[in-house]
Amino acid sequence: MKKSPLQFLREHTAMASVLGEFAPDLFGGTANVNSGATPYQLFVETVEQVPIAISITDKKAKILYVNEEFSKITGYQSEDILGKNESMLSDKHTPRSVYYDLWHTIRSKKVWHGSLCNRHKSGQRYIADLTIAPMLNEQGEISHYIGMHRDITLVNEADKRVINQKLLIESVINSSPIAMVVIDDQNKVILDNHNYKALVSDLDKGEPAAYFLNLLHEEMGDEWVKLQNNEQGFNNREFKVEGKAGRRARWFSCAGNWFKENEVHADAFFDNAEKQYLILTITDITRQRRQLEELHIQTLKTIMSEDERVRSIRETLLGAIHQIHMPMNQIRAAEQILKHKNDEQNAGLLQILQQIQQSGEEAIATMQNCIPEIFQTAEIPVNLNQILHDVLLLSDQRIWSNGVEVHWQPLAALPNILGSENRLRLLFSQLLENAIDAVSSPDTVERRIKIGTAADADLVHVYIEDSGPGIPEEKRSKVFEPFYTTRPMGGQKAGMGLVIAKEIVNQHQGFIDIDPNYDQGCRFKIGFPLHRQTLGRLA
Ligand code: FAD
Repeated sequence: MKKSPLQFLREHTAMASVLGEFAPDLFGGTANVNSGATPYQLFVETVEQVPIAISITDKKAKILYVNEEFSKITGYQSEDILGKNESMLSDKHTPRSVYYDLWHTIRSKKVWHGSLCNRHKSGQRYIADLTIAPMLNEQGEISHYIGMHRDITLVNEADKRVINQKLLIESVINSSPIAMVVIDDQNKVILDNHNYKALVSDLDKGEPAAYFLNLLHEEMGDEWVKLQNNEQGFNNREFKVEGKAGRRARWFSCAGNWFKENEVHADAFFDNAEKQYLILTITDITRQRRQLEELHIQTLKTIMSEDERVRSIRETLLGAIHQIHMPMNQIRAAEQILKHKNDEQNAGLLQILQQIQQSGEEAIATMQNCIPEIFQTAEIPVNLNQILHDVLLLSDQRIWSNGVEVHWQPLAALPNILGSENRLRLLFSQLLENAIDAVSSPDTVERRIKIGTAADADLVHVYIEDSGPGIPEEKRSKVFEPFYTTRPMGGQKAGMGLVIAKEIVNQHQGFIDIDPNYDQGCRFKIGFPLHRQTLGRLA
């Protein structure tokens, strides 16, 4: 026979008295509330109708009372279950350790809260979010337990689905060969993948996302804000990252997309506030860049070897002309003497000398006609950092095999000059090769070459210094004269390198000097006028 809740509570005076202790006004008094119901009756009706499954048990979990919601959730009416143990609800899938913890907690007079797998009367499993509180009698001993539970099967499914989706997303982004990271509007990393984590240690630049964001901000300027506001995204932004501890530089390509998510915190509950995130992908394109660089170097080498061939023909012919000039001058002098003597006897000799001179001049003219022009290219805005970078790559093998330590100090954002890339490459190649020669003699202790660029309001400056023996003061002006060399003659170098270098500098309205104040070797200072349009843009 089902007992009414009121009957039940009246019978269990210990419980009523406990409640009375906590709220004497409600449970101790007799005043009627609303339709004449006492607070006591009101309480009982509330428990009966509250939309949460409530059961009251004795100390051994024998069920003494269940409310309507309990019957709805479990499928058991009170007559089916009163007097039975709560374990009737157990699906036997809940690990023993959970029950152990449950009982250990409630027997210590504490409230237990957790999730269990329960079985509905029909056999259907459901997840119960259960709270069990012990009820104490006047002596402070446990007299009963009150259990309250909700069916959270659907909530649990939704939670699990979210977790599964997160795991799926994580496994997809982790399997990507590209480094990926999600950043919030405070530039905080929210999500990343294995490849991104690898970058943290590989690059040694702190948080890689912060490092690349800085580079992107610098490069994109106002465009960044425009794209961010329109959520347009960007791609193929390439950056070179210098290698740490002597390792080679690496190249990365960045792409990004902004997206918005609804805020989840309570403040935004009625506001529908959104938060913006950036998904940034960072692709290592070092291999592709190196291949391109190698191709570029191969092309440069081909062009340079053609230039070199032309240069050596010019040098040989100019050398030959120079050599012929000396006997020709002597012949001219002899001719003048004979003419002066006006001696009939030497008329034949004079004629021969004049013939020799004529054929000599013809030979010189022929040779002069044969001197090939250095391959001309159009004058365009040129960045000397790029030219010097190419030249260093071209001489890489010689630098390395001679154990030369190169310090490359380019000025960031160097203004352009107007010039011919090929000629400028030839010029700096010549100066670099001279510097390598200078530091490569066996008795040179320190093999160091320093190359740098700078700029002022009118000029772009380049300096190339080496720790070789230097050029003595009295020879400094002569080294720019044809066929002057500080090296023994007869080798491949005939003393025309600096002549050609000066010629190229002059063609670019620049200057080339040997720094008189540099005493630790040799330092060439070269300057070129800034390209006017670049000047205008900078101003
Ligand atoms: P049982 O043999 O009943 O118990 C397993 C382990 O629980 C024991 O080894 C022991 O460590 C501990 N244990 C059991 N009874 C006691 C005790 N009287 N004193 C100390 N330790 C004990 N279980 C559910 O699965 N679903 C529920 O919805 C649920 N609601 C509950 C509501 C209340 C108010 C209470 C007091 C308990 C509730 N329980 C519930 C726990 C339930 O009583 C069983 O302990 C549990 O279902 C395990 O049952 P079992 O037959 O597998 O093992």
